[in-house]
Amino acid sequence: MNAPAELSAEVLAQRQREVVQALMAVLPTHCLLYREEDTVAYECDGLAAYRRLPLAVVLPETESQVQRVVQICHRLEVPIVPRGAGTSLSGGAMPIRHGVVVSLARFRKIIEVDPYARTATVQPGVRNLSISEAAAPYGLYYAPDPSSQIACTIGGNVAENSGGVHCLKYGLTVHNVMRVRAITMEGDVVEFGSLSPDAPGLDLLAVMVGSEGMFAIVTEVTVRLIPKPQTAQVIMASFDNVVKGGDAVAGIIAAGIIPAGLEMMDKPATRAVEEFVRAGYDLDAAAILLCESDGTPEEVSEEIVRMTAVLREHGATRIQISRSESERLRFWSGRKNAFPAAGRISPDYYCMDGTVPRRSIGSLLSRIEAMEQKYNLRCINVFHAGDGNMHPLILFNGNDLDEWHRAEAFGTDILECCVELGGTVTGEHGVGIEKINSMCVQFSPEERDAFHAVKRAFDPPGLLNPDKGIPTRARCAEYGKMHIRGGLLPHAELPRF
Ligand SMILES: Cc1cc2nc3c(=O)[nH]c(=O)nc-3n(C[C@H](O)[C@H](O)[C@H](O)COP(=O)(O)OP(=O)(O)OC[C@H]3O[C@@H](n4cnc5c(N)ncnc54)[C@H](O)[C@@H]3O)c2cc1C
Repeated sequence: MNAPAELSAEVLAQRQREVVQALMAVLPTHCLLYREEDTVAYECDGLAAYRRLPLAVVLPETESQVQRVVQICHRLEVPIVPRGAGTSLSGGAMPIRHGVVVSLARFRKIIEVDPYARTATVQPGVRNLSISEAAAPYGLYYAPDPSSQIACTIGGNVAENSGGVHCLKYGLTVHNVMRVRAITMEGDVVEFGSLSPDAPGLDLLAVMVGSEGMFAIVTEVTVRLIPKPQTAQVIMASFDNVVKGGDAVAGIIAAGIIPAGLEMMDKPATRAVEEFVRAGYDLDAAAILLCESDGTPEEVSEEIVRMTAVLREHGATRIQISRSESERLRFWSGRKNAFPAAGRISPDYYCMDGTVPRRSIGSLLSRIEAMEQKYNLRCINVFHAGDGNMHPLILFNGNDLDEWHRAEAFGTDILECCVELGGTVTGEHGVGIEKINSMCVQFSPEERDAFHAVKRAFDPPGLLNPDKGIPTRARCAEYGKMHIRGGLLPHAELPRF
C-alpha cells in the first residue's frame, strides 16, 4: 500500500471490503463506519480546504479494541489517522484515502481527579474544558486553554502540544502533562512520563507531546492541575501604531513581568469582533493589547501598576483596566471570538500560525500589510503576542479557486517570513499537511532525516499518520524546484473544497 496515487477505484473498493471484514471481526457494528454517507463527516478537520474519504472510520470504546484495530491495520499494511474532535487547523486529522481513521471520541471518561496530588487522569476524548470543570469543585483547573477548548480533546492537545492565552505564564501542554499512555503501531501499550515530578530514563514524554498522531495512539493522559488564582484583572491598551504595540509587548517581558495573558489584535480584527460581540474595543486604535494579571489581590494590583507604566512608556494612547469580573470577561470575549468573527465578514478565512521573536512582531505586521497588496486579499491579525505566536487570518472566498491559491501562497509567504525573522513555521497548530512544505525551509536535510529516524523508532512500518508533519527529501527537492516565494504549493495531489 505504498503508492496510493496509483490505486484505482476498483483496487480501493476491494481493499475496503477486506479491511472492513477484518474490522467487523473485532468491533461491534456501532463502532465501525464505512459507507460514504457516514464517513463523509470525517473527510477533513478544521483545515476544511482539503478533504479525503478514508476506507473506514472506527470508534473504539476500549483500549483493547484500539489494540486489535491497530494489529489488523499493521497486518494489512493500512495507514491509521488518529482523531479527536477534528478541530486541528493544519490537516493533521485529515484521512488518508487508503487508510482508517481511529476516532477516540468515545474515550470520554474522567478517570480520576486527585486534589491532593493536583492531577487529573482522563481518557483522550475528554474535552479540554471538561477537565477544568471536573477540577473546579476542588478550586483547581487545567491551565492550557486553546480558544477551541469547548470542543477540542486532550488527546488532540497532546498530539499538537496546544497552547492558549494563559500559556505564556503557565506553559504549553508539554509543561502540564505528566504521563501519557498510548498504543504503538505494533500494538504495544506504552507509557511515557510518570506521576512523580521526574520520570526515570530518557524524557520521551516530551517527544510524544507534539508528535501529531505520528508516533502512537494516546489512550490515557494524566495532567497537572493548578489552584485557581484568587483574582485577575486585565488592562486593555490602545496604540496608534502596530509597531508600538509590538514594542510594548517586548517592553513588558523585558521589565521582568510574565503576565497571565498578553494578546494583541490589529484594527481590522477589533472591528470584526466588535460588530460580533460588543467587547467595548477602541475602534480608533491601530492595535489593542490585552494584558492580564492574576494571583492574590496584592500581587495583581502591583503588577497592574507596573504594566501600566510600561504601556504608557511605549506610547499607549488609552488604557482601560477591568473593574469587575464581568468586565474582564467582556474584554476577553472579543479575543476569544476572533475566529468566528472572521467567519462573519468573509466566506472563508485561512488561519496561519507562525512565531517570531517578540522584537520582530512589528516588522512582521508591516510585511503582512505589504503582502495584502501583493496577493490582493485582506488579512486580520490576532496573536498570542507574549510568545510571538502570530495568527494572521487571511480572508478569501473558497468558491473562487484563484482566491484560494492566492490565500495559500500568502500564507506560505507569511510562514517563511517568520523563519527569515528568526521564528518558526508553527507555534501551536502543528505542521500536518498544511505546513509540510515550509518545513523544507525551516530545517536542513540532516535535521529532517533525524526527525524521520525518530518516527521510525516509534513506528517502524510507517503507518501512523504517514506523509504528514515531516517532509521527505523528495518532497523538499520538488518544492525547491517549484518554489518561488509566494508561488503555488505542490499540494496538487490533494482534492480541495
Ligand atoms: C476556532 C479554533 C480555535 C483554535 N484555537 C487554538 C488555540 O488557541 N491554541 C491551539 O493550540 N490550537 C487551537 N486550535 C487548533 C485545535 O483546536 C488544536 O490543535 C487541538 O489540540 C486539536 O484537538 P482535537 O481533539 O480537535 O484533535 P484533532 O483535530 O482530531 O487531531 C489533531 C491531531 O492530533 C492527532 N490526535 C488526535 N487525537 C489523538 C490521540 N488520541 N492519539 C494520538 N494522536 C491524536 C491527530 O492525528 C491529528 O494529527 C483552534 C482550532 C479552532 C477550530
